[in-house]
Amino acid sequence: MNDDELLRYSRHILLQEIGIEGQARIRAASALVVGAGGLGSPASMYLAAAGVGRLTLVDGDAVDLTNLQRQILHTAERIGVNKATSGLATLAAVNPQVQLAAVTERVGETELHALAAAADVVLDCTDNFATRHAVNRACVAQRRPLVSGAAVRFDGQLAVFDLRQPRSACYACLFPEGDAQDDLCAVMGVFAPLTGIVGAMQAAEALKLVARAGAPLNDRLMILDALGMDVRTVRFERDPGCAVCGALRRG
Ligand SMILES: [Zn+2]
Repeated sequence: MNDDELLRYSRHILLQEIGIEGQARIRAASALVVGAGGLGSPASMYLAAAGVGRLTLVDGDAVDLTNLQRQILHTAERIGVNKATSGLATLAAVNPQVQLAAVTERVGETELHALAAAADVVLDCTDNFATRHAVNRACVAQRRPLVSGAAVRFDGQLAVFDLRQPRSACYACLFPEGDAQDDLCAVMGVFAPLTGIVGAMQAAEALKLVARAGAPLNDRLMILDALGMDVRTVRFERDPGCAVCGALRRG
């Protein structure tokens, strides 16, 4: 690390649990952030500010006026611009040392597998179940740790699936595909700072994973009620009959 980096990351380096070694691991790491909306905004901004080596931001949508209430990556003058492109402009301004890449299309299964394979940690910051399950399948197949976040109304959720571990559950163990979950995120309200809280927690878990600091929120689901500011954590286990990770492990 050069003098500029030692200064920039000095408040991390001062932390015993991170230190120079942990910061070097963060700098050597590649993060994939799928979704540049409410969750992806704070998640990618903290990853970039904290000096992750490479960050790929994926979003096929364009910024619109309704996004600006919570999607802090974007600005009023970038309405109409692709969200990954807009996000990269903000991230580059925060930390020009990060190698940034934007994927500006809706990604399919094949692309997700390649993107996950190239990443050390994957953050699911999307708002629909079809993409969530596709990201999970890619992480299971490529054995990449998945940091999953969700925020709707005043309700937030956070979970880590460290799929490098053979006994780890996957997203589909917890939320099987085809369950009665509707994609209501687009039509439901969302409390602006809730996306910030959950997205920042996703960045925290991702940084801990790559720096090898502390204990990740593995096999636990954190549920946050922002109205009562009540947080609880429930444990869950791998489902041996899971259609995604069970089949892979059997096959
Ligand atoms: Zn599973």
